[in-house]
Amino acid sequence: MPPTTSADSAADTLARLPLRDDLRGRTPYGAPQLAVPIRLNTNENSYDVPVEVVAAIVDAVRKEAVHLNRYPDREFTALREDLATYLGHDVTPAQVWAGNGSNEVLQHVVQAFGGPGRTALGFTPSYSMHPIISTGTGTAWVDGLRGAPSGVFDLTAEHAAAQVEEHDPDVVFLCSPNNPTGTSVGLDVVEAVYERSRGIVVVDEAYVEFSRPGTPSALTLLPGRERLVVSRTMSKAFALAGARLGYLAADPAVCDAFRLVRLPYHLSALTQAAARAALWHADVLLSTVEAIKEQRDRIVATLPSFGLLPVASDANFVLFGGLDDEKRVWRALLEYGVLVRDVGIAHHLRVTAGTPEETTSFLDALESVMEASR
Ligand code: PMP
Repeated sequence: MPPTTSADSAADTLARLPLRDDLRGRTPYGAPQLAVPIRLNTNENSYDVPVEVVAAIVDAVRKEAVHLNRYPDREFTALREDLATYLGHDVTPAQVWAGNGSNEVLQHVVQAFGGPGRTALGFTPSYSMHPIISTGTGTAWVDGLRGAPSGVFDLTAEHAAAQVEEHDPDVVFLCSPNNPTGTSVGLDVVEAVYERSRGIVVVDEAYVEFSRPGTPSALTLLPGRERLVVSRTMSKAFALAGARLGYLAADPAVCDAFRLVRLPYHLSALTQAAARAALWHADVLLSTVEAIKEQRDRIVATLPSFGLLPVASDANFVLFGGLDDEKRVWRALLEYGVLVRDVGIAHHLRVTAGTPEETTSFLDALESVMEASR
């Protein structure tokens, strides 16, 4: 092959490179990271880490720094104990697995239980990384449907189970509360999908701490279900997205399967120390959850007065429809310094519930944009 010339674009070079055929033409995950005043596009927690938790994290990390000449505890034993304590529901440390963000633990799931010749099923619209993580491991992705028969974004037990029977997947992704719709999936759906499948059933509960009262976690279904996996993250309610700590609960044998595919020492000593210090202060960190839920409910309550259609939400974000041209509205909001998310659903946008001030800025900007388009 001739050497690259300066006239080549990166795309030209990539086209020549011996890239995997199944990755050709694919688009990477790409939520914009723009330096604007009001960033409400990636469902982070808008509140800074409180000073007392910062002090505890720095202290824990400083103690670890002395020993960075050594590899970290490959089994992250103490962290698994702390995560099991936080989860409750009689989850034991042997049932806990963790990684650098829940994206990584989800990747471990498809590395171990998916792969070439195997299939993963999800119910669209749902979290965009589920298909990307699956196809990245050579797992064929099947886009299942939400919506029938009860409503656009609802998923009923019968509809989900029928699709599981039709596609016979090795891995099924459920997401509750579901990103980007915000709606929770009933435990009857999880039970029906589990009963009618032979594969691993993942319930992605990244936003579960924001659920409205009376919404049970799939953790309650773990006993006796060795193919069930419930994933969580410290990126949202815990306000720790930058630390990269995701985790899951599953049968100890499932966690053993992840030991076959993870890289040795995948969780750095600094990450383990920071996550533990944060867990010890879970009550302080989670104290922002109620304030965020208030802003979420405020968004849902306000948008109809702009002629828009918000979807009731159990998460820290709201999907809203009724936009003639969502791309134009996205750009117009950006001109007001407000970044929201175009999730690829026609006539809809998604906004993260932030602080009261951020929410006010978003609502004021949106009202102006909607009035200008009348
Ligand atoms: N699951 C869902 C449903 C998400 O929305 C996200 C992040 N947006 C994740 C998992 C991954 O988050 P993290 O890797 O930060 O834990």
